[in-house]
Amino acid sequence: DPVVGVLALQGDVREHLAALEAAGVRAVGVRRPAELAAVDGLVIPGGESTTMGLLLRTFGLLDPLRAAVAGGLPTYGSCAGMILLASEILDTRPDAVHLDGLDVTVRRNAFGRQVDSFEADLDVVGVSGPPVHAVFIRAPWVERVGPDVEVLATVPAGPAAGRVVAVRQNSVLATSFHPEVTGDRRIHAMFVDMVRAAAERAEPAGGTARAD
Ligand code: GLN
Repeated sequence: DPVVGVLALQGDVREHLAALEAAGVRAVGVRRPAELAAVDGLVIPGGESTTMGLLLRTFGLLDPLRAAVAGGLPTYGSCAGMILLASEILDTRPDAVHLDGLDVTVRRNAFGRQVDSFEADLDVVGVSGPPVHAVFIRAPWVERVGPDVEVLATVPAGPAAGRVVAVRQNSVLATSFHPEVTGDRRIHAMFVDMVRAAAERAEPAGGTARAD
């Protein structure tokens, strides 16, 4: 069974570990390059993107993580995690870390001009059943989407209507909101499906290749 890591430098690590376990995989905290190398997928949690970026440098994880993402490691970033995965970040410090896993421009604390935190019910591409109840906490939005990026959800109504809040590009998934706090495991399940699909591609079903 796949093992999914949660980047455990800062932020709401515990909630993601629990959500992943509930979605049916083994979940482990990742703080060191050797731990990163051992996982089949990685969640970058919410927290504070500039702090997490500094800690990535301090822990020697920045280059390994950038390489892993570029190499196709399935990665899901929520909120601060979405910010870190972007190729361009607005309203951050000039030396802010960006992992370039998504060809998007995100604006940090974007909803803050209207309201710091809010909740909304979203239709998310790839998630069936009722709308996803999304919790936004000093959240970013996606302001530019590159040609290979799929928009999965936008804010349905209100002053931020139409703003992009969930995207996917190849093996990278990101949401502005925090599915780990609601008890709805469908976003984590979607990510686990991505992890399983990537693991299948790496080692086709039927197990080890045999000469006979
Ligand atoms: N505002 C935070 C940042 O800039 C993100 C908030 C969150 O992850 N809930 O990183």
